[in-house]
Amino acid sequence: RPWNFSAGPSALPLEVLQQAAAEMTDWHGCGMSVMEMSHRGRQFTQIRDEAEADLRELLAVPDDYEVLFMQGGATAENAIVPLNLIARGGSGKADYILSGIWSNKSHKEAQRYGDIAIAASSGTEQVLDGIAQAPWTWFPGADTWTLRPDASYLHLCSNETIGGVEFSDWPDMAALGAPDVPLVVDASSHFLSRAIDFSRAAMVYAGAQKNAGPAGVTVVIVRKDLLGHALPVCPSAFDYANVAGADSMFNTPPTYAIYIAGLVFKWLKKQGGVAAIEAANAAKARALYSYLDTSDFYLSPVHAASRSRMNAPFFLRDETLNGDFLAEADAAGLMQLKGHKSVGGMRASIYNAVPLEGVQALISYMQDFERRHG
Ligand code: PLP
Repeated sequence: RPWNFSAGPSALPLEVLQQAAAEMTDWHGCGMSVMEMSHRGRQFTQIRDEAEADLRELLAVPDDYEVLFMQGGATAENAIVPLNLIARGGSGKADYILSGIWSNKSHKEAQRYGDIAIAASSGTEQVLDGIAQAPWTWFPGADTWTLRPDASYLHLCSNETIGGVEFSDWPDMAALGAPDVPLVVDASSHFLSRAIDFSRAAMVYAGAQKNAGPAGVTVVIVRKDLLGHALPVCPSAFDYANVAGADSMFNTPPTYAIYIAGLVFKWLKKQGGVAAIEAANAAKARALYSYLDTSDFYLSPVHAASRSRMNAPFFLRDETLNGDFLAEADAAGLMQLKGHKSVGGMRASIYNAVPLEGVQALISYMQDFERRHG
């Protein structure tokens, strides 16, 4: 198969696809496809329960957190989060860190539901380590955040898929003077690529279609004390308390997407779990960024300390070669490298299912292209 660098929906492990194909018409000898099963039947209940148990094990999710399988993607969560949390504590306030396109979208949506403030933003040019960083190519450090201690939550996006900016050093809210403000994280595009410190985050959500499975299921991991505060206008199917109370079966869940996500979780356990995949991801990112940094032909726009291990935007210094670069990459079996239209250039998304070998193939191609056109 060619190497697939799509930002999402993105590459899935081949073993997962093969297993799903083998089980397509007859799951474990029961005579039905998973798509044909009642979500309340014995077989699907087993699939769902195993998926949740495996995910809890992989991420060491504490017992006082609910794991919910929802629908609507991370975009719907931009509304579902304030609908569930903004009334908590009574202030009607929430604070947002702006670090790129996805956090800006979250912030914009939340404004419909309460008193929403910007705690920090990277939307300006900033000189860091002696280099002028363009807007949205760096992450504002926690020491610069302006927090409201009575806010119902603080929201951030820990991996900006489009800008390629990652923030992994989640702060202790108490140390920032806001002990009662739960940290809510959109981790969509680096979910399951690294460990999560649940002593720092009260809620983490992720659309599955990067590291966790196919589009159609959104994973929400939320501390139990945040449940039960939904606004009266919150749709019942999006009220976390309802979804948790019904084991994510308040209405028909995205059964097939949950099944595939469950296979991905089992695949990840076989790889050695999150610690092993995190080490592999660090090695992949190191290889790609070191090459970008030593080349005069390509450049990485993101501040070195904030570069995403999952999504690496890069530019050819001579942008007239972009078309040739993409066409020849495609012909060489390196797919979906075109950067997002708002950023331009290229973007290599190197999620869990892309091994080091795939990154090495990309680097070899880039070296060869540089030799021929540099
Ligand atoms: N947040 C992040 C970080 C994303 O990368 C995406 C999609 O790529 C979204 C939110 C939106 O997700 P969805 O399209 O599933 O609504």
